[in-house]
Amino acid sequence: MRLSRYFLPVLKETPSEAQIVSHRLMLRAGMIKQAQAGIYSWLPLGFKVLKKIENIVHEEQQRAGHIPLLMPTLQSADLWRESGRYEAYGEEMLRITDRHGRDMLYGPTNEELITDIFRSYVRSYKDLPLTLYHIQWKFRDEIRPRFGVMRGREFLMKDGYNFDLTKEDALHAYNRHLVSYLRTYERMGLQAIPMRADGGPIGGDYTHEFLVLAETGESEVFYDSEITDLKFGTRDIDFDSVEECQSVLEEFTSRYARTDETHDEALFNQIPEERRRSARGIEVGQIFYFGTKYSEAMNAVVQDQSGAQVPVHMGSHGIGVSRLLGAIIEASHDDKGIIWPEGVTPFHCGIVNLKQGDAEADAACEAIYLDLVKSGLEPLYDDTNERAGGKFATMDLIGLPWRITVGPRGLKNGVVELTSRRTGESEEMPPEQAVERIRQIYANH
Ligand code: ATP
Ligand code: MG
Repeated sequence: MRLSRYFLPVLKETPSEAQIVSHRLMLRAGMIKQAQAGIYSWLPLGFKVLKKIENIVHEEQQRAGHIPLLMPTLQSADLWRESGRYEAYGEEMLRITDRHGRDMLYGPTNEELITDIFRSYVRSYKDLPLTLYHIQWKFRDEIRPRFGVMRGREFLMKDGYNFDLTKEDALHAYNRHLVSYLRTYERMGLQAIPMRADGGPIGGDYTHEFLVLAETGESEVFYDSEITDLKFGTRDIDFDSVEECQSVLEEFTSRYARTDETHDEALFNQIPEERRRSARGIEVGQIFYFGTKYSEAMNAVVQDQSGAQVPVHMGSHGIGVSRLLGAIIEASHDDKGIIWPEGVTPFHCGIVNLKQGDAEADAACEAIYLDLVKSGLEPLYDDTNERAGGKFATMDLIGLPWRITVGPRGLKNGVVELTSRRTGESEEMPPEQAVERIRQIYANH
């Protein structure tokens, strides 16, 4: 993309309505624009990152064997009456009446709708296990929408639902989700720690929340500092293997890590004092096993091996896709702007032309640009007439992890500059070598 043809409405001033750094930076970098309280338009740069995150979530869900579909945002109130949640859900549910006077709602989650799909088609244990998921907009009429996309009213969520014959099978699905979430967040450059949580209105005995540690997080958390040394890394895992998934779950959940809702002071105090931590965290996902709660209420039954009709065991598993943008920025920024991890960056590399209009500099930038595009990468070439300082400030603000700087002086010696946004370190090298370095960096992303 050439910046002169792009739509990147960056702001010079710090917007006064934004209280936390990720919200400020998303507004300043021209990623989002508030449409109403807690409802945002995703401008091109923000939309690009949102799609990258969505894509990682899709890939990791499908790697774990989960099947994508798409359910609507508007749902019928009648289904929610069956589960008893139409009345129980409270003011966060946006209730709508259509022209025929029928009660509808903008889905805050999808347990009812997916259970209805399941019961319409699945009759036998032979069709299990089954895990279906979608990535779809949700609406919750939050009393205090704030912090930009972190607590929106309209927000994008991955929600997945497993259907299993037995509790044992459903717990394997639970473990499988835990493992796939670890991979998912690490690919986004995040450390998200699974913590024992509370079932809340969805209910359930087994539930973990995934938390990214950040001072601005809304959750209070308590943990053993050893847990922050754990990495899932590049290990290969067989998601069908009960033992493998169970052992990863044990590895990542055996140390103390809880949200304030389940915090147990006595247990916490058994950890050696120097490892005890209390901190703030951002909830970026949650997994639940809730047994037959919905399948019993909504008659989602299958025939088991003995011919008996039994309600299926279910769980639901959510990732806060739009909230993740805020969480990643909270975890990765400096006073100049965002620092995108390679896995989610909107453009792979920035190209800054120090002297637009200089024939040699223009030609060198063009060649680098086309080379990167040919390699399947997306560079953002600042080909505007802005002065160098302004170009650098914009690149730093929007946070591309790598920048190639091209100027007449360097070109005289046959070199350009390759700069890491994270470390600020620059290296001079011939243009072809800079392109090759970028290629190598992204070979694994
Ligand atoms: P919270 O406690 O933050 O209100 P929740 O526990 O009600 O969230 P879940 O039902 O577990 O949310 O939804 C799954 C994920 O969706 C959450 O882990 C979170 O990342 C994201 N999410 C929930 N509410 C919002 C919101 N208002 N804005 C943005 N993301 C949200
Ligand atoms: Mg939650």
